[in-house]
Amino acid sequence: MSDCIFCKIISGDIPSNKVYEDDHVLAFHDIQPKAETHILVIPKMHVVNLMSVTDEQWPLVTHVLQSIHKIAQQEQLEGYRVITNNGEKGGQEVFHMHWHILAGSNLPGF
Ligand code: AMP
Ligand code: ZN
Repeated sequence: MSDCIFCKIISGDIPSNKVYEDDHVLAFHDIQPKAETHILVIPKMHVVNLMSVTDEQWPLVTHVLQSIHKIAQQEQLEGYRVITNNGEKGGQEVFHMHWHILAGSNLPGF
């Protein structure tokens, strides 16, 4: 989608600090980290959020979760929190589905 900042990160039009990439997923450091480690994991396909996932797209969600597991191993995280905000009322600000991986000593409470 042309006006989506995460699609622009995928296309390279906006730079990112890349952590992991495969054919379907990209992960990069959040620009405003809320914990010592704050990584965003996104599908390369523009999907708005979990509320918009179609039957055919659920395997992609599983793939994103498997990627989160791989990234946690790659980054040698001893433990981590995963958050995905869905919809404006769920706190979502960027409407391209993404998971936050948060880790480190200063994890925010919730
Ligand atoms: P959410 O509130 O779940 O939609 O989270 C959006 C996240 O995207 C926030 O934590 C922002 O700091 C992050 N973000 C926005 N623009 C960028 C960018 N250009 N590069 C990296 N992270 C970004
Ligand atoms: Zn997008």
